[in-house]
Order: sequence, then structure tokens, then C-alpha cells
Amino acid sequence: MSEVAENLADVSAQIAAACRRAGREPSSVELIAVSKTFPVESIRQAVVAGQLHFGESKIQEAEPKIAALPGALHWHFIGRVQRNKVRKLLQNFGVIHAIDSLRLAAYANEIARELGLFPKVFLQVNVGGEASKGGFEPAILRAEMENLLQLDRLEIIGLMCIPPAGPDPAAARPWFVSLRELRDALESEFSLKLPSLSMGMSGDYAVAIEEGATHVRVGSAIFGKRAYRVDGELG
Ligand SMILES: *Cc1c(COP(=O)(O)O)cnc(C)c1O
Repeated sequence: MSEVAENLADVSAQIAAACRRAGREPSSVELIAVSKTFPVESIRQAVVAGQLHFGESKIQEAEPKIAALPGALHWHFIGRVQRNKVRKLLQNFGVIHAIDSLRLAAYANEIARELGLFPKVFLQVNVGGEASKGGFEPAILRAEMENLLQLDRLEIIGLMCIPPAGPDPAAARPWFVSLRELRDALESEFSLKLPSLSMGMSGDYAVAIEEGATHVRVGSAIFGKRAYRVDGELG
């Protein structure tokens, strides 16, 4: 068994354990294997082990990898979305995790119409109010929700967050709770369904699942340590 396969088995077991603690079905959590900076060969090892959902954060890096791999895989774009890359993103990824402004959403809606697509998107929320991170401020998201809902080409499936970095996984819990509570509030204020929460990474995905994550984005716990930082992204 490859090391990637062993790591995947371990992560899956931890996901199942977190689900048991939370009284949830393991099938309610989608594991996204974040393959940024790792080669196609590592992704193949994960595919052989049964993994189908993958996350990438740079279109230049992802495009050739996606082209080299089986078409049946599901690709999630988890990086910051640049306006001039929207077309390529929509052509390569079925789910965009970090739509962070109304202007960007409206533009993605237009391009999706041109391409005949109905992409699934998450709205990123800047839960920690950090200047360095993208995402809607909660108050702005509320104010713009009606306009976001008019965008008929985007299937808004939920909210996503990247909490402030910290050494202790438990420290992330309040941020995960705040994302879930914001989701619950939006659902009742706007009479809509936002079933998905994209939250939790290698250090804290179990905590995120306990707090309601439906999509966890796990990289280094599956593929190993990344050799370099991706500029402008999380290492
Ligand atoms: C890199 C990245 C991840 C995965 O991080 P790990 O700590 O390696 O699990 C998750 N989410 C986003 C947005 C990332 O950029």
C-alpha cells in the first residue's frame, strides 16, 4: 500500500470517528484531497485508493494535472479567485469554494452563462476579520444576499471559511461555530437552503466535522509536507 493510501485510510477513520462523536453519518462529509504542489503521481496513488474529490488552488498548476488524470474525478477550486482566471476555473472545476464578493459572483455568473454551465459555489466568509484573508464580512454578506440569490447560473451550496491560523486545533472551534451559526441565520432570514459548510484542514478537520463541516479540505495529512509555500495562499 502506498503512503498516500495509508494516510487516506487514516484520515477516513478519523472522519468516521468524528462523525460518530457528532451523531452524523460519515457519508455526510466529503473529503477533498488537497493536491496542490503534489505531482500527478501522488494523485494517482490517491485515486487507486478510491479518492475521487481533489482540491487545487492555482489554475496554472491545476490545468495540466486535471488534463492528465481520468475525467471521472471531481475538482474543487479552493484558492483565491482572480477575475481574469474565472473562465478557466469554470472550465476546469465543478465547485468553486472561495467566491468572496458580489462583483466577482456576478462576473462568474455571466461567464457561466456564456459557457452553458451551472457551477456549484461556496461563499467565503472572513470569520476572523483578518485583513490578509479574502471573504465576505458577515454584515456585507447579509446586505448582499438578495443580490447574490438573483445570480441564476450559480448554485450557491453553502459557506466556506479559513479561520485564523493557530497551533491548537481546538482553537479553531469557535470560528467553525460562527460559520455554522451564520449559515443558520441566513437560512432563516432569507428562507433558503445552504446545506454545505466547507471548513477544516489537516490540523482541525475532526473539530470542523463535530461543528457541522460537510466538506473538509485536507492536504498534508494525505500527501505529506509541502516543500514550498504557494505564494499568496496557505502553505
Ligand atoms: C492548502 C489548503 C488546504 C489544505 O491545507 P493542509 O493543512 O495541508 O490540509 C485547505 N484549504 C485551503 C484553502 C488551502 O489553501
